[in-house]
Amino acid sequence: MSDCCSIKSPAETTLAETAKAGTNACPKCGQPGKSVESKTLKQMVQPRHLEVVNKPGFLFCRSANCEVVYFHPDGNCLRKPDVRVRVGLKETEDPVPICYCFGFTEAMTVEEIQATGKCAIPQRITAEVKSGNCACEIRNPQGSCCLGNVNAAVKEAMKGAAAHCFP
Ligand SMILES: [Zn+2]
Repeated sequence: MSDCCSIKSPAETTLAETAKAGTNACPKCGQPGKSVESKTLKQMVQPRHLEVVNKPGFLFCRSANCEVVYFHPDGNCLRKPDVRVRVGLKETEDPVPICYCFGFTEAMTVEEIQATGKCAIPQRITAEVKSGNCACEIRNPQGSCCLGNVNAAVKEAMKGAAAHCFP
């Protein structure tokens, strides 16, 4: 896709933020990215992008409402359609994956909380991780452990449940 970087319009990037964050800033939203290994990108991108991700130095954009998933200080950028998986952080409609190794979604935390009043998904993931069954670096688009995202999702779901049960 030759037009994949055509979104780098200066108007859309807060220049002050970009300058502050240096070359680590997302070209679209200006937020600093988090570095991701080529190994992770290889599993995530559409086959036509396999070659470009050989280059080390790609960063992951964590902004929920930014369609850029990966970008490189050299100017390459990969958006949601360039990636094979649904990036939970950037999705609001089911299924919103939160754990890629064991397939937990945001809806599963909500269901469990509604049924039992609590959610043991983080504990189950922790147990699996301890047994060496996780592969976050090749399954999670962020290339890192999902537990932070899972805990945040559980907290949100608990808040929602509390508001629902005790108006
Ligand atoms: Zn971004």
